[in-house]
Amino acid sequence: MRKVLYPGSFDPLTKGHMNIIEQCKKLFDEIIISVGFNPNKKDFFFSKDERMQIINEVYKNDKQVKVISYTGASADAAMENNCIAIVRGIRSLTDFDVETQMATINKEISKNRINTICLFADIEYQFVSSTMVKEVFGLNKDILKYVDEVVYKKMLAKRSAKLSNKKNT
Ligand code: ADP
Repeated sequence: MRKVLYPGSFDPLTKGHMNIIEQCKKLFDEIIISVGFNPNKKDFFFSKDERMQIINEVYKNDKQVKVISYTGASADAAMENNCIAIVRGIRSLTDFDVETQMATINKEISKNRINTICLFADIEYQFVSSTMVKEVFGLNKDILKYVDEVVYKKMLAKRSAKLSNKKNT
């Protein structure tokens, strides 16, 4: 069985991520989505548990997709889960620079066992990012072009919960 690890923050899962996952499904038997914490990103909209729960709900009928939580190096997560590679998505030259460094580190950590495969989202999703989705949502504009309905509903619920928490403090 050919398994691949797709690590990321997924705050929230977007149609850009989903497009990469669809491409992976044609190349691998199983895709393990590893939901983590990116120290370069501070203001998380959803907790890690919530982000995992959302992905699990979106892919509840898809036997090829599994979700895990991981805090360490992606190379270690890949080896522990018997994955043959890590997959990452590329949108820009900035992504490319970051991914080149990460791929090199992960290769070193795994003593050349884990390589990184970079995929490109289809053109309509190439500019979609979790950050952009949160910004557009904050402006009360339609985000259903960029996220699954499950994600949109969870974002609405989270916003209401945050607002009522604020009112009560
Ligand atoms: P991280 O915080 O690790 O960058 P993200 O959730 O932002 O996590 O992204 C996870 C992976 O998905 C990264 O490789 C990122 O480049 C890729 N990705 C995100 N959105 C897109 C998109 N629209 N097209 C292609 N790749 C994407």
